[in-house]
Amino acid sequence: MIPYGRQDINEADLEAVRQVLLSDFLTQGPQVPAFEAAVRNYCSAQYAFAMNSATSALHVACMAMGLKEGGLLWTSPVSFVASSNCALYCGAEVDFVDVDAATYNMSADALRQKLEAAKAAGKLPDIVVPVHLCGQSCDMRAIHELSKQYGFKVIEDASHAIGAKYLGKPVGSCEYSDITIFSFHPVKIVTSAEGGMLMTNDAKIAERVELLRSHGITRNPELMQSESEGPWYYEQIDLGYNYRMTELQGALGLSQMSRLDAFVARRHEIKTTYDAALAALPVQIPYQDTDAHSSLHLYVVRLDLDRCKHSHRETFELLRKKGIGVNLHYMPIYRQPYYKQFGFSKDDFPNAEHYYKEAISLPMFPTLTAADQQAVIDALAEVTTR
Ligand SMILES: *Cc1c(COP(=O)(O)O)cnc(C)c1O
Repeated sequence: MIPYGRQDINEADLEAVRQVLLSDFLTQGPQVPAFEAAVRNYCSAQYAFAMNSATSALHVACMAMGLKEGGLLWTSPVSFVASSNCALYCGAEVDFVDVDAATYNMSADALRQKLEAAKAAGKLPDIVVPVHLCGQSCDMRAIHELSKQYGFKVIEDASHAIGAKYLGKPVGSCEYSDITIFSFHPVKIVTSAEGGMLMTNDAKIAERVELLRSHGITRNPELMQSESEGPWYYEQIDLGYNYRMTELQGALGLSQMSRLDAFVARRHEIKTTYDAALAALPVQIPYQDTDAHSSLHLYVVRLDLDRCKHSHRETFELLRKKGIGVNLHYMPIYRQPYYKQFGFSKDDFPNAEHYYKEAISLPMFPTLTAADQQAVIDALAEVTTR
């Protein structure tokens, strides 16, 4: 099966991990800070905090911005469940903003309308989490404007989007947000096996995040509430978690960072080939916003079902049978059984529903060979054309 995504591991990655195993530190050593520095520099951000997953980083981000019971977070329904679960961890409520029909990202217009209604009803969100689906930035300028007008915080879920740009600046610079989150799961752009990173330019947020990712413990005398009682002394001053990244992961991530631009460039080559080959098929190729340079985590096509030979589901099954590991990113989160208890109505998210009935993610990863890509194209042509 040709997967929809997979990691690229080279000799340098192997050697980096091997060296850590032979060193004094398997955790809390120099590799994670070096990885953080590499991502911070790449993104031109002030602070970077590596964690054991993007999910953990989203949780810490919400806590650091004070989300708690009675609070409210809005995100995109077309995302991985972690984008909204972070609010539930904090005991807060979740709601969704429908996606744009062209980009499948949170629609800034839908957000504006929902904010107007929420203001009238007296229930504005505390945090909005735009998700840069497939690696293409949301309309952050518009979302940032709305955040000033309506007084909410912005966490960019850029799990798909390290290496992407928005208005010429790297995603992760936090130019239009309070916090940006990256994921380093193996299907993402660069990997640390499991791992995530939280970017911010705000010193106060950074101080909270550093505490929360490691038990709420500090060794900084300026933060301590009492005098030191000796060289062993540290204080737990908040309730945090163990969300630390290991040195093995840090070394792998750092080694991968040197190939980030090459990974993204290779993904664009693959896209160019797909775009040309699929133009004649009854599918819609991904729209690219001119404000954004996508990292192309995913290549999602929409089936033009009126012109396709088979249904969405049949097309999926036939491609899988032919060894093409197509996938669907994502079933709208409000459709998940766990989310049924919150009483969302599909009718409130027409664009997300429409997307869900037509979308297919084709294989997209840097080591996809020309022959395998051609096999994907041929299989899609055979399955879709009458
Ligand atoms: C992968 C992903 C996450 C979670 O990342 P982990 O590092 O696996 O926790 C969150 N949001 C989105 C949009 C993702 O794709």
